Amino acid sequence: MRIARFFHQEKERFGVVEGDHIQVAEGAIFGAFNVTRQGYHLEEIKLLPPAQPSKIVAVGLNYKDHAEELKIALPEEPLLFLKPSSAVIGHLDHIIYPSMSQRVDFEGELGIVIGKVARGVPEEKAHECIMGYTCFNDVTARDLQGKDGQWTRAKGFDTFAPLGPWIETEIGPASLQLETFLNGERKQSSNTSNLIFTPRRLVSFISQIMTLYPGDVIATGTPSGIGPMKVGDTVEVVIEGIGRLVNGVTTRHAA
Ligand code: MG
Repeated sequence: MRIARFFHQEKERFGVVEGDHIQVAEGAIFGAFNVTRQGYHLEEIKLLPPAQPSKIVAVGLNYKDHAEELKIALPEEPLLFLKPSSAVIGHLDHIIYPSMSQRVDFEGELGIVIGKVARGVPEEKAHECIMGYTCFNDVTARDLQGKDGQWTRAKGFDTFAPLGPWIETEIGPASLQLETFLNGERKQSSNTSNLIFTPRRLVSFISQIMTLYPGDVIATGTPSGIGPMKVGDTVEVVIEGIGRLVNGVTTRHAA
């Protein structure tokens, strides 16, 4: 099932996407809901970020092919950092290029969306806390990342967490092709089978540190091929079986 949040006629709602239509749902997106007979063509509505996370937990180096490219040893445990919830935008929203940076990169990633409170969850039960998967772009001000050492500024600007277009709840994450396109040109291409730490391992590991809440998002790390974006560019993160997250790059906030 593909669950999306959307905006239509001044109201925020959620629903289930089938093909190019969305059926309105009533109830709780992370609980029980009913799918109604009311539906819209996707072109009639505006998709919103499918989750409103209390936090985004992101993982540093997590692709074997990326580690080999960088000629560094595989990490023994996940390297974590946080992105603020204020950075979240949805499909077709714009990434704002901050004036503080001269180098803003895309990082296409598989996003895990938490469906149940997770605290101290063993790896064999972690899948019960995962609602589904989405496309994520861990937008990064690369020059500031190097300058600061700490990554809060480089990873934390408003609009630096594009997420969407929906949550796919019925897919397994073991072997999904992940690609990132810049202005239609393929820049990243890998497979989640190259992940060093699997989604289950990540949920379990992170839940030993901080409680994960429904709607929280884990960004699982990016493969090789990251690169810079310019104002006017369009970036797309495409994950097999999930969907396509498209965002333009602009210089200022929309009115
Ligand atoms: Mg990343």
